[in-house]
Amino acid sequence: MRRPLIAGNWKMYKTPSEAVSLALELKQNIGTIQQLDMLVCPPSINIVAVRNALQDSLIKVGGQNLYWEQEGAFTGEISPQMLKEAGCEYVIVGHSERRHKFGETNEEVNQKTRAALNAGLKPIVCIGETLEQREQNQTEAVLDDQLKNSLAGIKADLFQNIVIAYEPVWAIGTGRTATPEQAGEAHEFIRNLLDGTYSVELAENQIILYGGSVKPDNIKQLMTVADIDGVLVGGASLKSDLFSKIVKYFQ
Ligand code: PEP
Repeated sequence: MRRPLIAGNWKMYKTPSEAVSLALELKQNIGTIQQLDMLVCPPSINIVAVRNALQDSLIKVGGQNLYWEQEGAFTGEISPQMLKEAGCEYVIVGHSERRHKFGETNEEVNQKTRAALNAGLKPIVCIGETLEQREQNQTEAVLDDQLKNSLAGIKADLFQNIVIAYEPVWAIGTGRTATPEQAGEAHEFIRNLLDGTYSVELAENQIILYGGSVKPDNIKQLMTVADIDGVLVGGASLKSDLFSKIVKYFQ
């Protein structure tokens, strides 16, 4: 039985004081819910304050990005160890906004994923096709390419700490959600790929999140899909009532 994970990606929203307010509201609303894992990923400047605000709650904190070196002259970057010591358990890697707006490649996603694992962080590795790729029937080829290259060289014992997020680019921040059939097909395809690359057991235990305009009114429909184990939420994670409603589906 896979334990659901609901993760909120706050993207580049919330000043430090706004982030603390949101965290305190979430702590109040959902901080003691035990039926699932809950995670929020604030902008890095707010991680410590949010972690402190969430103390004595079950809501975990994660990063949105990292660099693969331990330290050095890499202005503007954040190391895995810095995230870890700041209180992060997870880190999002290869989000489509990083891939498409900042030109992040599969090779870079791979380096970041390995660095996160080596530091004891759980990487949430994001993959997903653009609308154009879907319309050209390239979805499976894109997922295959992104998954295999982002995870290249990662052995099964470390792989167990990875979360995969299927996020069709055309559904992120657009209000368009993949239908349960579309999401189900993609998730099944990903699980089968993991089965081929690693093992049946590992693929069966793998947490695969869906992301793309998840809201309180579509969580139920999405969670009826057998291969969806939770969700990565962007816009709706910025409002405590919306994120809380999504989480409370699992209560
Ligand atoms: C995301 O940021 O990963 C995301 C899925 O955003 P949204 O829920 O706003 O589509």
